[in-house]
Amino acid sequence: MAELHDVSKAYGEIAALRGVSMGIDHGELVGIVGPSGSGKSTMLNTIGTLDRPTSGTVTIAGHDVLTLTDRRLSALRAHLIGFVFQQFHLAAGVSALDNVADGLLYAGPPLRERRLRALEALERVGLGHRLGHRPHELSGGERQRVAIARAVVGDPRLLLADEPTGNLDSRSGAGVMDLLRELNAGGTAVVVITHDRAIAASLPRQVEMLDGHVVDGGRA
Ligand code: ADP
Ligand code: MG
Repeated sequence: MAELHDVSKAYGEIAALRGVSMGIDHGELVGIVGPSGSGKSTMLNTIGTLDRPTSGTVTIAGHDVLTLTDRRLSALRAHLIGFVFQQFHLAAGVSALDNVADGLLYAGPPLRERRLRALEALERVGLGHRLGHRPHELSGGERQRVAIARAVVGDPRLLLADEPTGNLDSRSGAGVMDLLRELNAGGTAVVVITHDRAIAASLPRQVEMLDGHVVDGGRA
């Protein structure tokens, strides 16, 4: 599904990734762990094609990312990959339904169909009763569910989550993890960065990072 081969990423003097090789299989559920600053987010953003590496190769669903134009890369991302972030990144003042419907803007079905699919996605995450609520009217756990609905409304094959439980109490966090597991059981590959050792330990595979290296679980 996704493969990094000898990927390095530098921000000026800072080496965020130093020769990382790792792969994600179709339908996998993978946890990424490691201390703050070890390169977890950079690696996830590289898999998600949001960041381009300084060197090395990135292959997503058989496409060599480095050879694609920005336009083709955006299309690939829109069709294959969903993102969830610690800070939710929902549009303020916009209903849950339209926040999720906006996840389909790139694919471009008409508004009516976008809203219909958004409704289905919100029902899937247990928020069918919160369609008209705006982000400030929702709890943290509910906001993250809306963000997950937005990430999966286009049926991505790969869902990338960067500390999705980082801003949640443990009960809401557990609910979000259950939801990610359900989506994975439905066939979506899920990669989740977590600081929580208990969450990580509960996942079938863990990739451990340190100082820009994958030190365990890379496999590729
Ligand atoms: P983690 O997610 O494990 O905390 P990151 O991937 O965010 O680690 O960061 C890895 C290293 O790269 C850190 O030293 C961080 O300061 C640096 N870094 C990340 N993003 C940028 C950026 N946009 N500009 C400069 N340095 C960055
Ligand atoms: Mg990070």
